[in-house]
Amino acid sequence: KKRNLGQPEFVQAVQEVAEDIFDFIADKPDYHDYQILRRIAEPDRIISFRVCWEDDNHNIRVQRGWRVQNNNSIGPYKGGIRFHPSVTESVLKFLAFEQTFKNALTGLPMGGGKGGANFNPKGKSDHEVMRFCQSFMTELYRHVGADVDVPAGDIGVGGREIGYMFGQYKRITNQFTGVLTGKGLEYGGSLIRPEATGYGAVYFLANMLKTKGQDLKGKTAVISGSGNVATHAAEKVTQLGGKVLTLSDSGGFIHDPDGISQEKIDWIKVHKTKRRGRIEDYVSEFKGATFTAGKTPWGVPCDVALPCATQNELLGDDARTLVANGCIAVAEGANMPTDLDGVHVFKAAKILYAPGKASNAGGVAVSGLEMSQNSERRSWKEAELQQLLLDIMEGIHERCLAYGRVSDDYVDYVKGANVAGFKKVADAMLAYGVV
Ligand code: NDP
Repeated sequence: KKRNLGQPEFVQAVQEVAEDIFDFIADKPDYHDYQILRRIAEPDRIISFRVCWEDDNHNIRVQRGWRVQNNNSIGPYKGGIRFHPSVTESVLKFLAFEQTFKNALTGLPMGGGKGGANFNPKGKSDHEVMRFCQSFMTELYRHVGADVDVPAGDIGVGGREIGYMFGQYKRITNQFTGVLTGKGLEYGGSLIRPEATGYGAVYFLANMLKTKGQDLKGKTAVISGSGNVATHAAEKVTQLGGKVLTLSDSGGFIHDPDGISQEKIDWIKVHKTKRRGRIEDYVSEFKGATFTAGKTPWGVPCDVALPCATQNELLGDDARTLVANGCIAVAEGANMPTDLDGVHVFKAAKILYAPGKASNAGGVAVSGLEMSQNSERRSWKEAELQQLLLDIMEGIHERCLAYGRVSDDYVDYVKGANVAGFKKVADAMLAYGVV
């Protein structure tokens, strides 16, 4: 805490991991002697830079951008870029730290990084977003590269923003390489990348339910968020026979007792991404639904829950409510949506609980596959990629079981993910000696 004053999110993420790792390394002196956990928790480097751009009224705006390169022991730095007013160095450090474990869990050769800016794309014109992205890349380009650091999208950074940043990278360097993932299909993107995080989270959930002889058929699901991850998670739950009751955004949540069908999800996707509308508009479009302003959806009784919006959106009391209402499984689509108190509640109740670093790794995994396709200069078929995503999520689930099984009927997925991710990175670091 002393080393990272004023960085609560980062301290929270490290604390959660440390709780499990201390236990694992207790009888393994090399990890202690070589200060492995401490080294993983100190980013390789943090690049902070000015992003200057001109708005439509010809005002000059000055924002701050960052790239946190946390650890490249098992592959090039890899992790998304976030544009949101809440972005700080602490938030990006926590995300880059978590990303290091997540990427290791996928089994693919990717290190951990994260970047972003305290820029709010909401309410900005297309040209303003373009000018911001170009200015951001004008500095970032010198720190990234297909074998160095490969950023992707995250909150506030979707296909449009990736397109503008890739265009600027190409313009400055005169190189067409796979420096960013999440690209459009016309210029090196991969099929199923947009769907991968949400679908992957639901595959992970299905894998957890299977250990109890259950599946998603007929189960009710409460989901937060209405962006890329949330809408695709909703889609897959519906495809597997579940009923999605809620979605949300930073304004509040909608509750549709009839279930949010594929047709309704399609409407939300267009409304949020093309029209840049609000989730509350859902209730005027679809009868029978209600909107609750300023609240998260965790009070709605459900069988399974998928927090897919942002960090610390599910607090201890929310976790207690979910458990009291009979929720049997929680799979995180977002990064660190549950606070430490909430994590402890789920663990104590021994429900099936998957941390984001395990259950939302499908997105970065398909990003890894996009990198491979770019290096090969070819595109793999959708069926191949769908199968690879299923296999990768199953592999992550198995790694969690290997290190997280506490008893015959209980698996601590948080511990499993932390230890499996840590071991892979730590063993590579040991091989390199003190660097
Ligand atoms: P999007 O920008 O597409 O959607 C984010 C959603 O979360 C929106 O509905 C947004 O509402 C809501 N939200 C954002 N901030 C807040 C807040 N402070 N309070 C309440 N709601 C909020 O992002 P993604 O769907 O891509 O990302 C969602 C989460 O998943 C993030 O934690 C991200 O790091 C994580 N993730 C994403 C991956 C990906 O492939 N995209 C991969 C792995 C993890 P509003 O529209 O009002 O802003």
